Amino acid sequence: MTELATRTMPLPSLDVAAVRADFPILTRQVHGRPLVYLDNAATSQTPRQVIEVFADYYGRYNANIHRGLHTLADEATAAFEETREHVRRFLNAAESREIVFTRGTTEAINLVANAWGRANLVAGDEVLVSRMEHHSNIVPWQLLARELGVVIKVIPVDDRGVLDLAAYGELFTDRTRLVAVNHVSNAFGTINPVREMAAMAHDAGAMILVDGAQAAPHQAIDVRAIDADFYAFSAHKVYGPTGAGVLYGKASLFEAMPPWQGGGEMIETVSFEEPTTFAGIPHKFEAGTPAIAEVIALGEALAWVERTGIEAIGAWEGRLLAHATAGVSRIDGLRILGTAPDKAGVLSFVVDGAHAQDIGLLIDQLGVAIRTGHHCAQPLLAQFGVDATCRASFAAYNTLEEVDILVDGLHRVIGMLR
Ligand code: PMP
Repeated sequence: MTELATRTMPLPSLDVAAVRADFPILTRQVHGRPLVYLDNAATSQTPRQVIEVFADYYGRYNANIHRGLHTLADEATAAFEETREHVRRFLNAAESREIVFTRGTTEAINLVANAWGRANLVAGDEVLVSRMEHHSNIVPWQLLARELGVVIKVIPVDDRGVLDLAAYGELFTDRTRLVAVNHVSNAFGTINPVREMAAMAHDAGAMILVDGAQAAPHQAIDVRAIDADFYAFSAHKVYGPTGAGVLYGKASLFEAMPPWQGGGEMIETVSFEEPTTFAGIPHKFEAGTPAIAEVIALGEALAWVERTGIEAIGAWEGRLLAHATAGVSRIDGLRILGTAPDKAGVLSFVVDGAHAQDIGLLIDQLGVAIRTGHHCAQPLLAQFGVDATCRASFAAYNTLEEVDILVDGLHRVIGMLR
């Protein structure tokens, strides 16, 4: 496509009023003011269609899955397995058995560290982790490093919050086994070039795990185009419930991996006389009763995203981010952390003479919910010499007026603090 054609193509549009009407929570007041919810990177709000799944499930077909022969068990199993196929489509995975349900991104990464890591890593093997990772993509590797003697090498980040790809390339050795990197940074919003990073990892004979917790809500994901070996995300950041998440893994890798947790559902036969044998993938990695209602509700959340249009959502969040960036840039002594050219809807900042926590507490009095703290990314914040930032993060239902309320509110509370 020519550059002109690209520039004149209409942006996919979003009917924000219709979107908002789906979210009951957005009508509530906080401290006597309309809620302005800008903590979407921590958890997104839930549309009524997703909330209704719970009432429908518990009111009509609550039953344990896979092992029952009665009608309710059949219906619950069918809905659960349909969601697996739905997630496959959402990620453009090749097969639904490459989709494992977990409690969330954290559990998905711990599964890889424990099942794949313990079977494949020995002392001296190297895992590359970026400085901008969420703690959930650092600590599981550190636990393994402590126990097995695996070496963790850190992919550096520049002053804009962009990964240094040249330095990344130089970290590879013949001991590099895995790269663990996020697709989008929760602290700064940087979108990482995971496709290119995967190609570099594979060229060096290593594998790549992509933490997609912050990417799945904002852009189309294609695990085959990325050529990710593992890809993880959480339902509660994609308009779904807490307690459910996804680990995608290439079938050949999953098949070669031992189980992690043992229990019901993940076995073929259990015996004291013969070796216990395990179920095939993905069930081998789903020990015990899963979060059945939550997984089915995740399917409804993905359907909501698809009806709304992920491109339209991403484009709208880009407008909100640009408006917010321009607005806060006019505040004296405010410094934005994370100025990458390619960013998702996350705005992190610090203010001279006003601590982030105080700003967060005071602006809450105006009904505005933002996040303050280290965002589970202490190594990244330490590089920038801060222990906390304020973070506003956007979702499909946020409006330009809400961004104005944020900016006006910041002017007011910073004035009070100085
Ligand atoms: N990775 C990233 C980039 C995240 O933003 C988060 C949640 N803040 C996680 C991992 C962990 O997700 P969860 O708590 O849902 O397991």
